[in-house]
Amino acid sequence: MSDDERLVAVALPVPLFAPFTYAVPDSLAARVAPGARVVVPLRGGREVGIVVSLDASLPDGVKAKAILDAPDAEPALTPPLLELGRWISERYAAPMGLVYRAMLPSALGVASRAAAPGREMSHVKIMREFPALLEREAFFKRAPAQRAAYEAIEALGGHGAMSHVTGQLGVARAVITALAKRGAVMITKSAVMRDPFAARAEVQREAAKGVAPLEPSAAQRAAIDALIASKPGEVALLHGITGSGKTLVYIELLRHVLNVQGKGAIVLVPEIALTPQTVDRFRAAFGDKVAVLHSALSDGERLDAWRALHRGERRIAVGARSAIFAPIADLGAIIVDEEHEASYKQVEAPRYHARDVAMARARHEGAIAVLGSATPSLETWRAAEEGRTRRLSLPMRAGAGELPKVEVVNLAGPQPPSVDPVRVALSVELERAIGDTLSKGEQVILLLNRRGFASFIQCPACGWVAECPNCSISLTAHKSPARWVCHYCQHQEAPATQCPRCATPVLSMRGLGTQQVERLVSERFPSATVARMDVDTTSGKWAHVEILDRVGSGEVDILLGTQMIAKGLDFANVTLVGVIDADIGINLPDFRSSERTFQLLAQVAGRAGRGAKAGRVIIQTRAPAHHAVRCAMTHDYDAFVREEYESRKQPAYPPTVQLANVLVSGEDQRAVASAAQLTADWLSRLLTSKSVAGLTLVGPAPCPIERVDKRWRWHLLVKATNAKALTRVGRYFAERFAPPVAGVRVSWDRDPVSLL
Ligand code: ADP
Ligand code: ZN
Ligand code: ZN
Repeated sequence: MSDDERLVAVALPVPLFAPFTYAVPDSLAARVAPGARVVVPLRGGREVGIVVSLDASLPDGVKAKAILDAPDAEPALTPPLLELGRWISERYAAPMGLVYRAMLPSALGVASRAAAPGREMSHVKIMREFPALLEREAFFKRAPAQRAAYEAIEALGGHGAMSHVTGQLGVARAVITALAKRGAVMITKSAVMRDPFAARAEVQREAAKGVAPLEPSAAQRAAIDALIASKPGEVALLHGITGSGKTLVYIELLRHVLNVQGKGAIVLVPEIALTPQTVDRFRAAFGDKVAVLHSALSDGERLDAWRALHRGERRIAVGARSAIFAPIADLGAIIVDEEHEASYKQVEAPRYHARDVAMARARHEGAIAVLGSATPSLETWRAAEEGRTRRLSLPMRAGAGELPKVEVVNLAGPQPPSVDPVRVALSVELERAIGDTLSKGEQVILLLNRRGFASFIQCPACGWVAECPNCSISLTAHKSPARWVCHYCQHQEAPATQCPRCATPVLSMRGLGTQQVERLVSERFPSATVARMDVDTTSGKWAHVEILDRVGSGEVDILLGTQMIAKGLDFANVTLVGVIDADIGINLPDFRSSERTFQLLAQVAGRAGRGAKAGRVIIQTRAPAHHAVRCAMTHDYDAFVREEYESRKQPAYPPTVQLANVLVSGEDQRAVASAAQLTADWLSRLLTSKSVAGLTLVGPAPCPIERVDKRWRWHLLVKATNAKALTRVGRYFAERFAPPVAGVRVSWDRDPVSLL
């Protein structure tokens, strides 16, 4: 190669921060641009990387390997997305190549250099006609199968879909290929986008016809106008109570962004499967402009959606966390619905928080970011109070309804003796309320945030508790089929018939789960249709939607489920919400447990009385004085935040400080403990050095859940009053620190959502 050989820097999905240097062969030069995917040789194999810089250098005498291929005509990542990746890499101390891999559909990633094209629809069409019988006889003389195939297509009118001909008509594909070779038919292909939502969108559009579009209320109008008038890069919190009509505000803003500004948008929802109604509303409003990035999409379907956005054929991406990377040029707005949801945080590397990435992306690209919630996270609330984020409020319900009345049933202390088995789940008050609601032909939602039949199994004689062999967690009993399951590592075993320690023959089941409540409620209300919605009933692709459609059509009288049923649902005929046990999770050793409980209670309470009929909520608890319960009862977000915020001052937790959780894990308990200590020593030397200020180290200590999936876990916390210093230290740590003990993993989790 010549002296003026061009060298470029390529970020590869390996746990190293620095990009690799490669030479560009002339034949590929036209396609090697910043953000382009390239296939390069790496350690005897090949790897897909992203070009991050067009000029790189190597020390004298070191020869660069050449890029093998540059498969795309257009760079996969636009300059703003390249820049966003750099920001994520810095902020979360994650190698850039890993970040870029997370930003692209997996079908474009490692080992798929030329990604499979979208499904094509093949057609077959007759090219040669045989008006004279003799000619036909001669042509098909030794090919009766070809003749049958030809005549089948002829019978279809001379052309048809290949899938129809080979499927319903049972013609072998090879026979059609042979006919095509002989010029009797032609096979044509047209790309079809694999869009499993298309059918559903059609249903929605039909349903939307004849329904007059909603006229925004004064409060909605004010919020819409304020958003439209926002400056590029600005962030707004849309604090609207449950049922206040946040979706309409989003839609009207997007109408402006699309039709007036001619720009595109991203809508993030916590989990698409749980919010089909929200997604349907966007589809109904914007039809084919919307690409829905659903977790049930196959890799190929996801790639199709990504390409349609990349080419600008679709202008709005609706999806969960990773939709924040949707390749939309000219981005006008990013909406983060239910911004407080923990699912916006990615728990594997790169451990980004999609809400924070949304704000960074909006800033880089001059879009506006809207964070919507009835129960904003304390971080977002604080930003609004400090004026970094603008606050818009929708304090009233949009339609006719008002917030439901919330009653608390105190289960603390000795309960009146009862022989009625249903009392373990339903108090007299809740049972009566369910009966009243059903007798009026209205619907009920019951929340119990624990799946399975019973949350632990105990020997009444010696106190033995069934535990997971791989985790420090008790096993949950499940029925039909009967098995004991670990909810952390999915370990399963057949139920024991006696205590393994003292051979007592009957074990007791403690702690209610949804399966048990389903049984009790069905027995008590035998003429009601009960649907249970939890991880165990929603394994199929469309299981969520099917259950929710049955609720919407009125077929289901009682919807019972875990936190899955708390979000986004909008059913006018649901007038009663019952919380079976508000205390699950309230005392978890995590600084966010109160916040989570309040959000869950407020959200599920918000499902009641969304139509013209008044709603009612009954919360069963042993902790009626806890501020999460008290404030949910009065729908008082402000009071909750005030109290909760005080509790985050001492000891200091977000938003008083910023946090990184350093997790040390491995299969050898003692190795992990000593590695945790060595990690703490290393960090503590760094934090006390003169160049670092405003950071403190807490720990090391065993994690609240000491062992998960055979791995022992210790952690330490870095608390920071200076965000930039935390970023610098994280980067330094990730780059320089090597786990000091073999077999031990150490990870840096900036802005953790859970410390368990
Ligand atoms: P949120 O997301 O704030 O909980 P939604 O956007 O789901 O609330 O709206 C709640 C209900 O109010 C929906 O059924 C919606 O159709 C209705 N709604 C919203 N805005 C209006 C309006 N301006 N007039 C009448 N009904 C409205
Ligand atoms: Zn025992
Ligand atoms: Zn386990």
